[in-house]
Amino acid sequence: MRHVIHLDADAFYAAVEQRDAPSLRGKPIAVGHGANRGVVMTASYEARAFGVRSAMPAGEALRRCPELIFVPPRMDAYRHASEAIFAVYRSYTDLVEPLAFDEAFLDVTEAKRGPSAALELAEAIRSEVRSATGLVVSAGVSYGKFLAKLASAEAKPDGVFEIRREEAERFLQDLPVRRIHGVGPRTADRLAHMGIETAGALADADPTMLEATFGKIGRDVWTLARGVDDRPVQPNRERKSVSSETTFDVDRVGLMPLLAALPAVAQATARRAKRAGVRGSVVVVKVKDAAHRVTTRQRRLAAPVGEAEAIEAVAAELLATRVPLERPIRLLGVGITGLVEGEPVQPGLFDEKDTALVEGEPELG
Ligand SMILES: [Mg+2]
Repeated sequence: MRHVIHLDADAFYAAVEQRDAPSLRGKPIAVGHGANRGVVMTASYEARAFGVRSAMPAGEALRRCPELIFVPPRMDAYRHASEAIFAVYRSYTDLVEPLAFDEAFLDVTEAKRGPSAALELAEAIRSEVRSATGLVVSAGVSYGKFLAKLASAEAKPDGVFEIRREEAERFLQDLPVRRIHGVGPRTADRLAHMGIETAGALADADPTMLEATFGKIGRDVWTLARGVDDRPVQPNRERKSVSSETTFDVDRVGLMPLLAALPAVAQATARRAKRAGVRGSVVVVKVKDAAHRVTTRQRRLAAPVGEAEAIEAVAAELLATRVPLERPIRLLGVGITGLVEGEPVQPGLFDEKDTALVEGEPELG
């Protein structure tokens, strides 16, 4: 039986600001640029009480909370705080999988030190982080990553929550499918049309039908919905590619309909690349035809690209010249590989709801 802990700092950027500036403590603050067109990156809990949320435009945030104090981001300070938090984590186990500045999975099945019960161990880690950094992390404990992450959401703020194996089914029963790792808004919509809105309903569905409808991810999310999650905690996973893909409701025939779908896919890939702080020297397109045959084509570029327009241009050319398109196409993917560090990670993209660096982004090829 594995013990996995998901640790996630509470209101991370805002908490660092309140720690470093006592005058901000107890006040509604938002890290971000308050000027017109600015957005809230992270709101303190005092601000959340007014309905201020991450990614909210500054104007809207100020309407909800006129006393809101905007604090410009200090990424170096957050990076330092992150390093101190992760040093505590790594003193307990080498199996630390970072998801963001302030978020990680720990496999503590064979922890180097601390109490043997996972729940007590999580409390020990939380109190050590607090004394070492002055910051609060909440912890979710379970036997796999997915449930540990759900548990930490229950634990917030400043708490710890455990989902035991015998409690998993009850916990999952009414959970919206959207909260299952791997179920995006689109898949959630399609499942809803099939009458499947909860993990409980998904667990009762036919996995063969799910796989036929959604591909491998269909079976993967069915497995998670049943509370089965053997995915290992993977320290230092290195990203080899960034990609996104879309499956069409109706197969597309010929070049023009594919080109019409291309901008949205390229933009999604560019967003992920930006979030991961990478650019790619190779652009890859992937199509899957109605018979599930996959074709990928790629082009190496003189200089790495990360912007949607550049990725789209290369992908369009590959589609037009290198991809056989006689058969109806059901899926289009665009990715970049040959990654190099690109622009710095954009502040605000590592907030609590944002776990884009987790996994589940389909690899191309
Ligand atoms: Mg957080």
